[in-house]
Amino acid sequence: MPGREFCGVVGVSLPGKGAAPFLFRGLRALQHRGQESAGIATSSHGKLYTRKGMGLVHDVFNQESLEGLRGTVGIGHVRYSTTGTSDLENAQPLALMLRDEEAALAHNGDIVNFERIKKRLQAQGVEFLGNADSETMGAMISLEYSRTRDLESAIRRARAELVGGYAVVLVVGTKLVAFRDPLGIRPLVVGQLEGGHCVASESVAIELMGGKLLREVAPGEVLIFDRSGNIHSATSGANGSTAHCMFEWVYFSRPDSVVEGHPVYEVRRRIGERLAKEGPVEADLVVPVPDSARPQALGFSAASGIQYAEGLIKNRFVERTFILPDQKRREAEVRVKLHPVPGLLKDKRVVLLDDSIVRGTTLREIVGMVRNAGASKVDVRIGCPPIVAPCYFGVDMKDRKELVAHGRTEEEVAKVIGADSVHYLSLAGLVESIGLAQERLCLGCLTARYPVEVPQEHQRFQKSLAEF
Ligand code: SF4
Repeated sequence: MPGREFCGVVGVSLPGKGAAPFLFRGLRALQHRGQESAGIATSSHGKLYTRKGMGLVHDVFNQESLEGLRGTVGIGHVRYSTTGTSDLENAQPLALMLRDEEAALAHNGDIVNFERIKKRLQAQGVEFLGNADSETMGAMISLEYSRTRDLESAIRRARAELVGGYAVVLVVGTKLVAFRDPLGIRPLVVGQLEGGHCVASESVAIELMGGKLLREVAPGEVLIFDRSGNIHSATSGANGSTAHCMFEWVYFSRPDSVVEGHPVYEVRRRIGERLAKEGPVEADLVVPVPDSARPQALGFSAASGIQYAEGLIKNRFVERTFILPDQKRREAEVRVKLHPVPGLLKDKRVVLLDDSIVRGTTLREIVGMVRNAGASKVDVRIGCPPIVAPCYFGVDMKDRKELVAHGRTEEEVAKVIGADSVHYLSLAGLVESIGLAQERLCLGCLTARYPVEVPQEHQRFQKSLAEF
């Protein structure tokens, strides 16, 4: 259970109906992607209505506040800070002016080179209120829009300079705009609503808004939904290469989502089956770390014949521990969040399944909990290869020193987390379980080879900025 998270975005264009209730439902479906802040911006007759606050979606919005968010078009965001500090100032959507039109922008992901761009813009007299990369992106689009007076080409021109992994929603006047980085690192899907359209980070949000999944927003595609319900699409910067984040299948996305056409639940179950073959172990029970490792544990159990047991019970009313930004809070919360079933694990050899390990601190607590519950042996199986390098595309793991697998063997990791053994899924096992070719995935945090140039990682990049 890693210590990282990023954000979720939704957008709705629904001529003749209020967008806010749909956005609210979409955000609730994406609550797992960020719990620090939530926000919605809608637009009616050129006027922008925004509400955002710290906390969970249902803490920030109620019936009254949703009624105040007028308009048939809007965007929403749930946030965990990856770039920029964790406060309301940086909560999204961000309001901005596009020429004389009120607009708002929200995004998921990180812009790798935003500080360099920000400095250049500041030198040109552009003022910034906060320190989030979304503000830099908004300023770039605004600047280009005042030059070109055409939204699609403003986005295209701004994007030519923005390097990173991002999925963006923008509302301006009566239009909803959605676009994605040229390699499709961060996810974004489009759906059909009765009388309109919606976009979201995950397919589950489309379904919970009452819509039908149409397709992925293509890497590099800009979609503009106008007031009449028409969709304009233009693609730029994409050359057919993709680098979809493997973590969407491993952990981020809900198991009831479908990412790039590959159902997350199925991928996770296959990961478990593969792990049973790659890291066999004699045991009495297969126990998942709930909730994200359940399908993997079921797959492991089916392939190994070892009995599956829900040995750890999750308190559903505690926020997701790893999303909490402070390490000490995270550790204390693990004990509030998980509790072993009394007697079930006593004198049992347990295979503990988890989706991935980042820092290892949470898993160490959990292994200790399983031992204290009487387990005679705890073998840990991880549904992802070792995370050895930082992520620069929107996932909060920036420091190699914090990564437990960095510079350690499986035996050494087992020692750190107090397990009898640790076995990670192989890279080939992961790629084959996802079902996409390796070159279509971002595996940067596993291989330290990144799909775009990262300023601090010059020696490892595969594509130069010039190619991007
Ligand atoms: S570096 Fe890792 S977490 Fe970051 S986008 Fe790539 S695969 Fe995803």
